Amino acid sequence: MTEAADLHPPQGSGVSGSASPRKVVCNACPVLCQISEGRTGACDRWGNFNGVLTRVDPVVLFKKVSGTAGEITGFLESEDWDGSVVSEAPVFVSGLGSGTTYPDYKPAPFIVSSRHEGVDMVTVVTEGIFSYCSFKVKIDTDRWLGPEQATVRCQGEAIGHVTTAEYGSQMLSLGGVHHLTGGTKKEGRVTCEMMMDLGNRKPVELQVEGGSRLLIEAGKPPVVNGVEEQRMRVGCGSATIGIFAQQWHGHVDEVVVVDDHITGVLTEHQAGRCLGMPPSGIKIKGKKSTPGRYFQVAKPGTGWGGTDISDPLSIISGFEPTVARPGSRILMVSTTGEDAEFFVLDEDLKMVPAPMPADVQAVVDRIGENCEPALTTVLFLAGAGGSLRAGVTDNPVRLTRSIKDLLVNVTCGGAPVYLWPGGGITLMVDVTRMPESSFGWVPTPAIVAPIEFTMRLSDYRALGGHMQRVQAVQDVLKNERVRVVSWGELNPWPVGAAR
Ligand code: SF4
Repeated sequence: MTEAADLHPPQGSGVSGSASPRKVVCNACPVLCQISEGRTGACDRWGNFNGVLTRVDPVVLFKKVSGTAGEITGFLESEDWDGSVVSEAPVFVSGLGSGTTYPDYKPAPFIVSSRHEGVDMVTVVTEGIFSYCSFKVKIDTDRWLGPEQATVRCQGEAIGHVTTAEYGSQMLSLGGVHHLTGGTKKEGRVTCEMMMDLGNRKPVELQVEGGSRLLIEAGKPPVVNGVEEQRMRVGCGSATIGIFAQQWHGHVDEVVVVDDHITGVLTEHQAGRCLGMPPSGIKIKGKKSTPGRYFQVAKPGTGWGGTDISDPLSIISGFEPTVARPGSRILMVSTTGEDAEFFVLDEDLKMVPAPMPADVQAVVDRIGENCEPALTTVLFLAGAGGSLRAGVTDNPVRLTRSIKDLLVNVTCGGAPVYLWPGGGITLMVDVTRMPESSFGWVPTPAIVAPIEFTMRLSDYRALGGHMQRVQAVQDVLKNERVRVVSWGELNPWPVGAAR
């Protein structure tokens, strides 16, 4: 018998109230909806059913079985269920559908005991109402989306901005407290809807000011100005030269890899020199960085290598006559291999298009083969602060310290999170590892998302946890409607991941 088995189960959801004989007051968020019989509140998450405040969605409960990743195995009313699933396989009560306790001091909706490898564990389960939250979006493309710091709009409203580009990807920062609550009512509403859709893996249409039109969806290829991106570049132009120099050697006399960041020139580049390739005498526009590496050969755009060019010869300013050799074979290629042309230098030192030899085409194809599929990655970044922590303990700083000491495993809908160092509980989670439709909203406006804190029962007691509210999972099942979902192999089992 676990230590928790001696403890008292909670008294209902902890969220209830009454306004009039026909209405109930929901106090699960500061809006305090007065809900008429048979209706739901503003967020559609709570309703008045037969005069009782009731969660609309069942609690999502994960059952650990192998070979059925993500499959929904049942939708069970508590009276139909004898809890047998619990004895057959470990289960994890997630925050999804659990309800909230914000903004007052109530304990979390579920504080559930379990036993893992002989150790008594506890998981504090809630839905967080996040006013301070945003989405960091990584878009695998070298096409230019817009200037850094440019405003990103949705339905005409400012909802975020372009932030610092990363290797092979453009980055957006979307949502956040200033767009949610610091602008007009419409800006807040559109921001909230956009965030909910993005988190729930729905497509979202955006326009970057002075830049591109985007259609993005978590885990799917981005669509830039109506064109679906296929490949993430293999590297910058210099890296591409470094990777493929040996394979080009003997088949060409010069290669120019066109890239918005660094355009590479094989014979000048250290890779070409190491292979003993003689200089071709080619002269490239733009700013020379180090040998064989050029910045700003063209403007950014949606053409070759994320530049605005469609004619590769437009970045060539000529040839050094004392060095160039008529008959030289020259390849120009982009960093994804999607654009490539082959030329032969004539007697007037002009580059004349020629059929691509098979050996050269094979290396161009190899560039494409080495590109990864272009995807949109969506990370939810949120601060689990405020009174959410009071739902875990009566001394919230101990929760923060315990998390920092790695005594507490924090998950969102069972998905592992990255916790930022420094103060507070600032977490980041990949939305594709969370259950579908994990995100909701309340009209404050703010985003609602599941969050769970799993730890040893002894640690929970030590941090001042609400021990009188700990209940066994069987007790949750007796009193609640649940939806059982098979645990996918993608995420580590949250109880096992806690120390
Ligand atoms: S918006 Fe939703 S959570 Fe907030 S009070 Fe209304 S029904 Fe309850």
